[in-house]
Amino acid sequence: MPKVVSRSAVSSSTDAQPTASSAAALRVYYCICGEFILVIDKSLAALPRRKTDNAIVVRSQDTDVAKARIFKLNVTVNEPIFLERQGGHEKQYRFNCPRCSLPIGYQPTPPPIKSGPFVYILPGALTQMQGQIPPDAFEDAESRP
Ligand SMILES: [Zn+2]
Repeated sequence: MPKVVSRSAVSSSTDAQPTASSAAALRVYYCICGEFILVIDKSLAALPRRKTDNAIVVRSQDTDVAKARIFKLNVTVNEPIFLERQGGHEKQYRFNCPRCSLPIGYQPTPPPIKSGPFVYILPGALTQMQGQIPPDAFEDAESRP
């Protein structure tokens, strides 16, 4: 479990810019418990926020005007909850960490993940650590042993 990260031995330049390789541009995010949760092609800090709850907006489907982000979420999707919003109710299928069950985010549409135009990541739910992308990040669950 990658708990302690020593920065001194690696490099003095933190947050190095991605190289020409597209794989190098992928960002990896972890739950606070250390579980791998998200790999994505853009920093979460650079993504738009939702006005209602400040959640990070991740576009999950292409439209005519915008391309979907390339990402993979490792979460448990739960039964929907209903929230009171101005002008009605909002349905949220909550994402939780598969290890410690901490809330990670949600989407308004039923599973699978990315079934709607956006998924949302709760602010502060994930931490970014210098590390390697898990080799199975973009493989389907069926292909795992
Ligand atoms: Zn966790």
